[in-house]
Amino acid sequence: MAKELKKSINNHIVNYYHGCASRQYEPYIFNIQRFSIHDGPGIRTTVFFCGCPLRCKWCHNPEGLINSAGLSNLEGGREPENRSSQEGEREPESWSGQEGMCDRESRNGQEGERDPGTTYRAWSVGELADELAKDRIFYDESGGGATLSGGEPLSCNMAYISALMEELGRRGVSVAIDTCGDVPYAAFAGVLHLTDLFLYDIKMLDDSKHIFYTGVSNKRILENLSQLSRDGAAICLRLPLLAGVNDGLDDMERIARWLEAKQVKPKFISLLPYHAYARGKYTRLGLAPPAFDAPHAERLDELRHFWFASGFKAGVGGGINM
Ligand code: SF4
Repeated sequence: MAKELKKSINNHIVNYYHGCASRQYEPYIFNIQRFSIHDGPGIRTTVFFCGCPLRCKWCHNPEGLINSAGLSNLEGGREPENRSSQEGEREPESWSGQEGMCDRESRNGQEGERDPGTTYRAWSVGELADELAKDRIFYDESGGGATLSGGEPLSCNMAYISALMEELGRRGVSVAIDTCGDVPYAAFAGVLHLTDLFLYDIKMLDDSKHIFYTGVSNKRILENLSQLSRDGAAICLRLPLLAGVNDGLDDMERIARWLEAKQVKPKFISLLPYHAYARGKYTRLGLAPPAFDAPHAERLDELRHFWFASGFKAGVGGGINM
């Protein structure tokens, strides 16, 4: 029954995508990174979609925070007015993705900047699936696949994302989704059966700290994680770590207690130390670069041991050895 329901939801989404394809609903992508070993198991190709509901003070991809609607407005390539005039043809709000996230971004008052040094491009589903399938030999050899990342892939047009995942499945490409978790749960539910692994970020459990550092509450993020686990998803937790912000043993203990209380059992925990690679991007965008430091190597070792001692597989960096 549940299987039938998922199939019917998915068909609904795919039909919707094909129905609106002529209206150019493809989200913008700001990077496709081949041979990535930091975005899940094996060798992967990572697709970076534009737009994110969060505004982390340390964001490594500030050039990707502008959403597809914002780019469309700048480039004059699409017509948001047409979208609103076709309100009646749209999916219910929970499936719509990008439009829903625009509200959140406006609330935050930060729309994101277009980076003149970045190429933004909207790909059709078929084009992108073909591109990602080119590296299938490496995926098969290494246990890798494609990772949909960003930005936040689940804040995009979900009909597109779902159709893309269907196409990748047909081409035998395993798919992981790298998510900040702050989207309506319906976005997860719609792609659960198409996703081999969720790479799920937890920044910190203290909500006021979370609001200060990311611009949003972590309430929905945690609720979604708990629900995703109940729904049987394969999950790898990703913990971005910044010295003096969220790299204390007490921070880890709090997360471990939460996981235990919610019976969330990630397959792997990735400790992701902050790095300053994005400084040049901030300068290019005319923004002040973030002033954070990575935890010391000894601290990272301590945290890794903490997770081992707590019964979890864990490693430093985004590669996964499950
Ligand atoms: S969730 Fe990721 S992409 Fe979004 S603002 Fe934070 S670091 Fe940047």
